[in-house]
Amino acid sequence: MTTTEITRDLRDLDKDGLTALMESLGEKPYRARQVYDWLFHKNAASISDMTDLSLSLRDRLEADGFYLGSPELIQERMSSDGSMKLVLGFKDGEQAECVLIPDDNRLTLCISSQSGCALGCEFCMTGIVGAKRTGNNAVRNLTQSELIGQVRAAEVLVRKGLFEGHIAVTNIVLMGMGEPLLNLDNVVSFIGILTDQGGMGYAARRVTLSTAGIVPAIKELGKRATGINLAVSLNAATDEMRDWLMPINKRYPLKQLILALREYPLKKRRRITIEYVLIKGINDTDKDAKRLARLLRHVECMINLIPFNPFPGTEFERPEDAEVVRFQHLLLEEGYTAYIRASRGPDIGAACGQLGSLREGKVL
Ligand code: SF4
Repeated sequence: MTTTEITRDLRDLDKDGLTALMESLGEKPYRARQVYDWLFHKNAASISDMTDLSLSLRDRLEADGFYLGSPELIQERMSSDGSMKLVLGFKDGEQAECVLIPDDNRLTLCISSQSGCALGCEFCMTGIVGAKRTGNNAVRNLTQSELIGQVRAAEVLVRKGLFEGHIAVTNIVLMGMGEPLLNLDNVVSFIGILTDQGGMGYAARRVTLSTAGIVPAIKELGKRATGINLAVSLNAATDEMRDWLMPINKRYPLKQLILALREYPLKKRRRITIEYVLIKGINDTDKDAKRLARLLRHVECMINLIPFNPFPGTEFERPEDAEVVRFQHLLLEEGYTAYIRASRGPDIGAACGQLGSLREGKVL
């Protein structure tokens, strides 16, 4: 992002943007590195915290309207299973939800990339709410600073000791509200800062981006954000079924998507995660499992099976546990690694596909 764009939140700038800003103010390039360090590594709360900048530069930045924003924590809800949903509010009144999920020695933070999701997947509360939003109320991309703000807000809660046995967020997944690859520039820039050891310092192998299958952007991501993990929300093994469950499939059908996954540049010993939400009587038959196995041949992948999480107004149902296990076994027999993922936080509307329920006024 360049300084000519309207944002004045310094955390919307990357290294190049900060360098351009310092140049425009007649400052030496090393000032950009100092500011970057304060913004992303030291996590300064305000421009006045940046004590190794000259007073005149700090005054000038403030006089020009630059600031360090942070989202407002509107709500935090703890699930009976120990996970926690945060609702964060931004300057224009938009909101995003993120979820902290403790698990043995991991504390995963699931963040949102948009203020909802317009893709309208049939099994997803976020999509159903988002598809109804149009005009001025349309779903928008979250900015780099808003993506960073979610991580920082979660870190504050973790430091308060709310998650016994966990002192820091260990893993970050972009699987919350929104399609990250429709917000590619901000997301790639955010990932760069997140995984920069001179920036926020998270390990790239502990960051996962999940997409509904925006094929051109998958190719772009493979070039621009190497090192992170890719997950794809697949949920069907035929175009007919996927067109219905995930309308984005009409634009990027399975043949194109699978080809992009086969060609995706993976680091050694890494695999793409295929997410498959199992819906009773819809995509959970033996035939579906066999079709899925056939479709994924030659894709370096593992499969996560996620039993559907019901939400108000949906007619879909969760399959019986035995059916889920049967589906898993069929995939195992075909030689795949397949896990059943227990949903976390369904009682607080924090499980997969349930985010955005508060906006709709439906408290799950
Ligand atoms: S499943 Fe993902 S892509 Fe589909 S509507 Fe929900 S948030 Fe959007």
